Amino acid sequence: MSINISKYDPQNIFAKILRKEIPCKAIYENDFVLAFHDIAPQAPVHALIIPKNPYTCYSDFAERAAPEELVAFSKAIAYVAKELGLEDNGYRIISNIGRDSGQEVPHFHFHIMGGKQLGFMG
Ligand code: 5GP
Repeated sequence: MSINISKYDPQNIFAKILRKEIPCKAIYENDFVLAFHDIAPQAPVHALIIPKNPYTCYSDFAERAAPEELVAFSKAIAYVAKELGLEDNGYRIISNIGRDSGQEVPHFHFHIMGGKQLGFMG
């Protein structure tokens, strides 16, 4: 699938989740972020964390987000990992950016994965 990360598409699936047009299994929410379980988990624990504002990918987020949003997002990742019980054994956070990474959903997100010994990816 070809995605466009140069312009935000308000019809992407995570935008619909944020507008509550489609459901998600929410884990945590604050003014800036929403975290929910991935619909097709690749690990025993596989969550997604997204900003509420519209950014296509990490680069877009890093360039345009306000400092408080950057801080809130960063802290929320660690908070969600702790809530999911991943802190003791560890976990992985990744973000796909653009075509070569395999990014499917053009709304910036981090994957939080754990619950088993994870193999190398790439
Ligand atoms: P990407 O490839 O863009 O980094 O990852 C997109 C992720 O979103 C995939 O892991 C995929 O399973 C997940 N996903 C796609 N559609 C939905 C959905 O409707 N609900 C949820 N919870 N996850 C989704």
